[in-house]
Parts: sequence; C-alpha cells; structure tokens
Amino acid sequence: MSFPYEAPVSQSLFERASVVTPGGVNSPVRAFRAVGGTPRFMVSGTGPYLTDADGREYVDLVCSWGPMILGHSHPEVIAAVQEAVARGTSFGTPGAGEVELAEEIVARIEPVEQVRLVSSGTEATMSAIRLARGFTGRPKVVKFAGCYHGHVDALLAAAGSGVATFGLPDTPGVTGAQAGDTIVLPYNDLEAVRAAFAAHPGEIACVITEASPGNMGVVPPLPGFNQGLADLCSANGALYISDEVMTGFRVSKAGWYGIDGVRPDLMTFGKVMGGGFPAAAFGGRADVMAHLAPAGPVYQAGTLSGNPIATAAGVAQLRLLDDAAYEKVDAVSAELRSLVGGALAKEGVAHRLQAAGNMFSVFFTEQDVTNYDEAKAQESFRFTAFFHSMLSQGVYLPPSAFESWFVSTAHDTAAVERIAAALPAAARAAAEATE
Ligand code: PLP
Repeated sequence: MSFPYEAPVSQSLFERASVVTPGGVNSPVRAFRAVGGTPRFMVSGTGPYLTDADGREYVDLVCSWGPMILGHSHPEVIAAVQEAVARGTSFGTPGAGEVELAEEIVARIEPVEQVRLVSSGTEATMSAIRLARGFTGRPKVVKFAGCYHGHVDALLAAAGSGVATFGLPDTPGVTGAQAGDTIVLPYNDLEAVRAAFAAHPGEIACVITEASPGNMGVVPPLPGFNQGLADLCSANGALYISDEVMTGFRVSKAGWYGIDGVRPDLMTFGKVMGGGFPAAAFGGRADVMAHLAPAGPVYQAGTLSGNPIATAAGVAQLRLLDDAAYEKVDAVSAELRSLVGGALAKEGVAHRLQAAGNMFSVFFTEQDVTNYDEAKAQESFRFTAFFHSMLSQGVYLPPSAFESWFVSTAHDTAAVERIAAALPAAARAAAEATE
C-alpha cells in the first residue's frame, strides 16, 4: 500500500527513535506496524484535535486510548495540574490528593469499599490477582481470550490489544511457571467457565474479565454473562474481578458497573481516573482489601503511587464528569456510529459497528462478533485502507482493527463534520481494498 501524504518531521523523529528505542515507540500499539506507514509524533492537543510535528491537525478518535474524555488541555484540568505542580512533584508521604481521589472512586462505585492507588492499569490487575490469590490461598486464574489486562506475565496468554494487533500467540519471556496457573477460556462462554470450575475444584482464585471488552475491538458481554461469572465465582469460593481500566468512568459515572449492575469482588481502574497522568487503582470488598499490606500480609507498594500531580488531574477530571458530560459523549458516539455505518453501507462494505456505552469499533465482517476468534476472522485489510484514508484527511483512528475508538465531550459539531467529510473516501478505500 502506498502512503501519498508525507510527514517528514515525524519520519525523522521515528528514525531517531528507532535507534534508541525498540521499534521506535514506548508502547507497541502506538507503532503503525499493523497498518504500515510512519507513526505520527504529536506535539500538542486542544479539545478534540491533535497537532503533529509536521504541523498537521487531526480530529482525535483515540483520546490517548481512553483517558482524555474531556478532550485535550481541558482548562480546569490544566489549572489543577498547575496548582499542584507549583507545590512540588512528589513527596513519598501520604497526601490529601490521594484521599480525595479515593473518595471520588468509592462514592461513584458502590461495590468499591476501599481502594489502593497505583500508577498503571497493569499494576492494578497484577496486584488484584495477587490479592485474590493471597485471600483465597488458591493458585489459578481464569481469563478470556482477547481480553487484555496489561502486560502482567500471568495475563498475557491469548491477550487482546497489541498482542491481538500483532498476532502474537504467546510472549517469549513469560515462563511456563508464570502462565501455567492461567486458564484461558473463550469469551462469552459460561459453559466453559462452569467446566473449568468442575475440572479444578478448590484451585481457582479468581476470574478476571474486562467489564466489557474493548481490546479485541468492542465485544460487549452477552446478556447474563457477567452475572453468570459472578454467580459461578461465588458458588465456587473464587473472586470475580471486573477490569474497568478502559470502561471505568468512561461509559458512565460508575463505568460498566453503572450499566449492568453486576457486583464484582474486586475491580481495577486506570485511564480516565488519571486525567492523562499515570494513575490507576484497584479496589472492592473491604474484607478482601484488608489483606493488603500494611493492613494485611499481601505485599504491594509504589514509589510514585498516589502522585500529587496525577491525583490532582484525576480529581479535577472526575469532578467535571457529571451526567451532562456522559450524555454528551454518548450522543457524539451515537452520531459517529451512524455516520460510519452509513458511509460503509453506501459502498456496500460488509461491517458490524459494535458499541459498549460510548466505546465503539467497526468490524469488517458480516457476523456479530461475540469472541476473539470471530474478531480475528474479520477482513482487517479493509481497516488498513480505511485507516490511511482517514489519516490522510486529518482523522486519527487507532492504528489497529482490534481497538476501541474513543470520543470526548470536546468532540463538537465542527469535529464531527470533519469526520463526516472524510468518511465517503475512506469507505470507498475500504470497499476497493484487496488482501
Ligand atoms: N486493562 C485494560 C482493560 C486495559 O484496556 C488496559 C490498557 O489498555 C490495561 C488493563 C493496562 O493498563 P496500562 O496500559 O495503564 O498498564
């Protein structure tokens, strides 16, 4: 495939980056490996727009992979950060910002009685499964193919996101011992979970699932699936861990829990709660959380956990996320889904638009997608053509057919119109694409 538009400054930065950084990026999904071409090096963001190092502006439908739900450089978040940074950047002691952020989370999500702050979603899920193992005294963890929970050794088996994008079957460096206690099951298959509990009585510490997966593209749970998981866990003495790193505070005030109301024992959060800074968390039942050090024996720690700037940004962002904000994001998402679907239908491109609240993605297939195998069966070469057409017209999509698209309260009429103007040519490119 040819790339008719140039990005010479990004190209030169990428060449320099590739000398000093593996693959030229600090997180694989940022590279354009799956779609080809040069990743764009961004220099600034305002509202729904990003500007790259070549001075081109894009409507951003990645939103930093979820966190920027108020758009870029929201004045109140920036002011909170400036106020915090003027007081110092890290103290290594408890601070009021950590209490405020924890109180915000506990107030919004009823099953979370206590919360521990960490710096990334990976740390949150890693710590949650350690806690589940410590609490139950059991070794095994059930996860679902296509769900991504960060790059935790035990959870990289059959993971989504970059692992799906690059078709990695398994990751070298994860030993049999680290992954040997992980049971990977097909998503949306309660029978498989029932069978796993029957095959491993008294051995399964927890079932971890994305509350509504967004890392194999958007594949919502079938009705009753999450409740079935919660019921099976409770019947078998295991903990039900709902990973809301992506959905938390994004799809509603109380995340996916606010939509399906299924009560987990533990939950994990990240992305939106940090306002664009490294802040994440895990939390849940107080009796389980009481097992964490220093209250209990399960060790978990972090030099920068609850960092004062990250907590200030997170608190400011969460306090701005009222009902009106979610209504706005939901409405923009619905409008974009209808525009994308209309453009693809007009060109006769087989597709499925799947949504989980305001998260959505397009699958280039005729079937509804309910699990990872079905997601992988799509014609992702059509996405590549679609992606590059949109990019050349100033719309920045996730550079992978296996990722959710994200919008923000800042995606106004002008931004939507720009996207709408780009869609006919992109849909045509998808229609004409060949493998
Ligand atoms: N869990 C889910 C559902 C995610 O989507 C992600 C990241 O995309 C993670 C965990 C890991 O979070 P982080 O990238 O902050 O380590």
